[in-house]
Amino acid sequence: MTKNTPTKRPLRLRTRQVRAGLSRTGFSETNEAIFMNSGYVYGSAQEAEESFDGTRDRMVYSRFKNPTVAVFEERLAALEGAEACRATASGMAAVHAALVCQLKSGDRVVAPRALFGSCTWIIGDLLPRFGIEVEFIDGTDTAQWERALSRPTQVVFLETPSNPTLEIVDLARVAELTHKAGGRLVVDNVFATPIFQAPLSLGADVVVYSATKHIDGQGRCLGGAVLGSAEFCNDVLGPYLRHTGPALSPFNAWVLLKGLETLDLRVECHAANAFTVARFLESRPEVARVLYPGLESHPQHTLAKSQMCGYGGVVAFEMKGGKDAAYKLLDGLEVIDISNNLGDSKSLVCHPWTTTHQRLTPEQKAEQGITEGLLRLSVGLEDADDLVDDLRLALES
Ligand SMILES: *Cc1c(COP(=O)(O)O)cnc(C)c1O
Repeated sequence: MTKNTPTKRPLRLRTRQVRAGLSRTGFSETNEAIFMNSGYVYGSAQEAEESFDGTRDRMVYSRFKNPTVAVFEERLAALEGAEACRATASGMAAVHAALVCQLKSGDRVVAPRALFGSCTWIIGDLLPRFGIEVEFIDGTDTAQWERALSRPTQVVFLETPSNPTLEIVDLARVAELTHKAGGRLVVDNVFATPIFQAPLSLGADVVVYSATKHIDGQGRCLGGAVLGSAEFCNDVLGPYLRHTGPALSPFNAWVLLKGLETLDLRVECHAANAFTVARFLESRPEVARVLYPGLESHPQHTLAKSQMCGYGGVVAFEMKGGKDAAYKLLDGLEVIDISNNLGDSKSLVCHPWTTTHQRLTPEQKAEQGITEGLLRLSVGLEDADDLVDDLRLALES
């Protein structure tokens, strides 16, 4: 393999998303090769020994490292402005590894209540089984952060914007409080993507992604990633991944790598379409409220504006008339699909109360602002006017 380093000049984001990490084989192929192999061979017994004791830096086994996965990791790190990146088989594997690799019995974790359902399960159900103390708070309330982080805390985990109610957490303030409490701040940046928000630059220590969402962005495969300092990725996370094995398939890494090349083009289009759709929904009498961080009516619009440079592709809105009205709208749509995925080129809508957040108790749903009339719309790359027409006809039917 020859490393393709065309220049020592610092390259701009668009160039990095197309070229960072690129390395070519002796065939000089243009496009990145797929290394669909689990193992590697050694020229001698001595070489094998040196590969294992670390004196030789080379591929040993694809649970540890794979050339195609390594290109994906390097490119995503270059986009995020992180020292290092480790890829995982799914977003949940990334969340799980980022938390468990650094926690032990007796530690304390603080998180907002507004989280993706499986993140709530890991933090609220799994971690306490191993003697880890967990406190959930209202992530939009600075006083609650100050109180919760007035005690030593090892990890703070949060999503901003959150799924599905698009709550915004003040990253710089929470990072400062987390560090005072002696902990690391882990941010699930799925809704914002590396294009619209850079948590590390605001003080976060670790960023996690479900690459299944906008990074693939075309509904093809699962993947995840954890980014942070080289010290965290190599010494804390590295051994955990190496020995527990949530490795990303080289084929999926290649698909995600191709996704990265068009990431900014796609998410800018998602966001522009989402803005159009959010404004349209806000104008409709059938809709009780619209949640989109870009709208001035969003309760934390000012904060969103200060820490994001775009507002993403997800819009949540509440139908007057509760579940019946929400179901009628879903069943009346002809272009927008009913699906629980998000960040896809196709517009997808779901009813969180009965799908993604079904397992929560009615009290937990109320705390998170998930009502029976709430719908979460992941706005795709179609023509925005067709999406508005589809919603208008379904609202009027
Ligand atoms: C989808 C999602 C995940 C989980 O990712 P998978 O790739 O489905 O495992 C985690 N966090 C957020 C915010 C998500 O939207």
